Amino acid sequence: MNQPLQSSRPVQSLIPTPGKRIVFCDFDGTITQQDTFIDVANRLVPEIWGPLQKQMFAFEITLHEAVSRMVAAIESKHYPDIIAGAKSYPLRSGFGDFVRFLKSETIPLVVVSGGLQDVVESALEAHRSGITNIHAAQIDDSAEHLRIHCEFESKTEIVAKAKVMEQYIPENGTLDAVLIGDSLTDLELALQVPLVFARDRLAQYLRERDRAYIPWEDFSDVQAYLAQRWALQEVGAKV
Ligand SMILES: [Mg+2]
Repeated sequence: MNQPLQSSRPVQSLIPTPGKRIVFCDFDGTITQQDTFIDVANRLVPEIWGPLQKQMFAFEITLHEAVSRMVAAIESKHYPDIIAGAKSYPLRSGFGDFVRFLKSETIPLVVVSGGLQDVVESALEAHRSGITNIHAAQIDDSAEHLRIHCEFESKTEIVAKAKVMEQYIPENGTLDAVLIGDSLTDLELALQVPLVFARDRLAQYLRERDRAYIPWEDFSDVQAYLAQRWALQEVGAKV
């Protein structure tokens, strides 16, 4: 004869309810092997960008100030070449397979970049159908020098990635968000999501803040970890 379940905790609390899965992925230095935004700055306005970059990475000035001043130093006539050059940057190994993996799992992949929307769109054209959305900075090239802006601007960042995430939180629900990143533009969002894949400067900043992260080298590492995590969550949900 079946006995009623005796437990001091409600059964519901034993079942993981992780929220809606979503993957946020940085572009420069994450999907690309090289930071294309920094490469453009180093090529076109090295004398301006050198000191700005040092101050920015040391948190002496905001990302907003550093990026705005750097972009404003670039003449608009260079903009077509900047976009055309986007396709020449090699992508990190495993990215194509990772895009297909997320699509097969029907998990949204959102690219969030502190760089330029036109550059990111151009570089990812071949993978675009597997990417849910790309959020990055917009460029106005109608004046002599470039101007940068974004609908997700904050006081400290041109593209505030944490603000982008807010758009995806379901009504009456939560997100089980993953962030994949490499540097300063990812830090604010990294502090707000439950699972972070970090390399390079982002890993260093998280270590300095005693925050957990998963180190990674290429997208096959990320895919293997997530496939296992999600499979375990499915098993847990059935227990
Ligand atoms: Mg980056």
